[in-house]
Amino acid sequence: MTILSPTSTAVLYLVAAICFILALKGLSSPKTARRGNLIGAAGALIGVVTVFLSMKLDNIPWILAAIAVGSAIAAPVARRVQMTQMPQLVALFNGVGGGAAALVALLELSHTDDPWVRLAVVFTLLVGAISFSGSLVTFAKLQELMTTRPIVFPGLPVIMAAALLAAVGASVAVIMTGNGWLAVLLLVFGLLTGVLLVLPVGGADVPIVISLLNAFTGLAVAASGLVLGNVLLVVAGTLVGASGTILTRAMASAMGRSVTGILFGAFKGGSTAGSTVASDRPVRSSSAEDVAVLLGYAQKVVIVPGYGLAVAQGQHTIAELQSELESRGIQVVFAIHPVAGRMPGHMNVLLAEANVPYESLKEMSEVNPEFKTADVALVVGANDVVNPAAKTSPGSPIYGMPILEVEQAPQVVFLKRSMRPGFAGIENELLFEPQTTLLFGDAKESLGKVLAAVKAL
Ligand code: NDP
Repeated sequence: MTILSPTSTAVLYLVAAICFILALKGLSSPKTARRGNLIGAAGALIGVVTVFLSMKLDNIPWILAAIAVGSAIAAPVARRVQMTQMPQLVALFNGVGGGAAALVALLELSHTDDPWVRLAVVFTLLVGAISFSGSLVTFAKLQELMTTRPIVFPGLPVIMAAALLAAVGASVAVIMTGNGWLAVLLLVFGLLTGVLLVLPVGGADVPIVISLLNAFTGLAVAASGLVLGNVLLVVAGTLVGASGTILTRAMASAMGRSVTGILFGAFKGGSTAGSTVASDRPVRSSSAEDVAVLLGYAQKVVIVPGYGLAVAQGQHTIAELQSELESRGIQVVFAIHPVAGRMPGHMNVLLAEANVPYESLKEMSEVNPEFKTADVALVVGANDVVNPAAKTSPGSPIYGMPILEVEQAPQVVFLKRSMRPGFAGIENELLFEPQTTLLFGDAKESLGKVLAAVKAL
């Protein structure tokens, strides 16, 4: 005897699916992202409760215990994680999702003779396993538990092809025989393929692969919905698969790269991780007071925030500086590069935290023509996203990436701590140009000093 009838179950699944769609819509803008997240969580809650009330479940205490253990681990981790570590957290959660889908498929294999269901089982097993092991490797790379550089060794393409072929062979055998041990073998081949797929990816490409694996998990979950005959899993998985694919393409094109180039570029000798060695070439540096004079007597200032602003947690100070400059009649806009920081939308989230008005934030295509007409471009903890090497140096790891055209501004001020390069590990010629000056120090401290000096003008 179940509490919910099939009709009320279907209606509740529909409500949950609508919540997921509204969540995606909400997440597409910083203004509505928080609400979108809550709507998505509500949809997931409705889905889980509906399962409990609409099915005769065995082992309820075990299921509740698993939910409790998962929540007890995930909730504190999600609360405590630094925003700059978000990509690796997403990788971890995503990998676990793929792994769970694979395990469900493995267990369901013994309950079916239908070759179509077995097809869905092998798909879930293979793609879920790839997503699980691949995500763990991306986590280890971003957490610097292993090198972030691409790992390539002789014979890797051959081993990768062999693992894939073996996986396809095992898949066919499982569909034909339904044999559980062959399914375990398929799981192992899937895990191996996931590791081999991600090892050659390095540097700035790793978060793009996380997004790709996220799409894989979505597809695995959708297929597990077919295995279990659960429509909501099919809908939710398809939405994750589709949105993950769109995000992967958007991130790749924002970096001027192709998805195949990201996955297999290292075989041709390309690498996106450069050096971390500081340059010792001379540059023009100045004091906070000098920078305050430049800003305080300008008519228009374009601020370019980057990863370093997030590291320094200088968002509140930069918001104060904006208010102070605006109170002096100076026009201030923020130039937002799509891959500034370490995750999509990083700068939007960071500045929203400090209540910087959305109207002050301008996207790259909109703001690029404005550098010419600005008096000062203030680059705070950004480097790669303003590096002209992306346009001028074929062979550079960021070549082809559209950049913020800061070099067009008559005066450029960089706030950074040292002469170390950014994520891509390459020198930025703009630092040595005559119109550029550097204020060395932690971005939050430097902004604080500049703010005090502007107030004293
Ligand atoms: P970069 O990593 O290029 O540069 C960051 C700069 O911040 C460095 O110059 C660093 O110099 C400075 N910095 C670091 N900490 C501080 C601090 N506490 N105070 C002051 N300055 C600091 O960042 P960008 O935002 O310009 O570019 C993002 C890079 O990340 C791109 O290469 C992008 O491809 C990559 N990426 C982006 C992802 C995304 O989705 N947004 C995902 C993955 C990678 P110093 O050490 O001298 O202070």
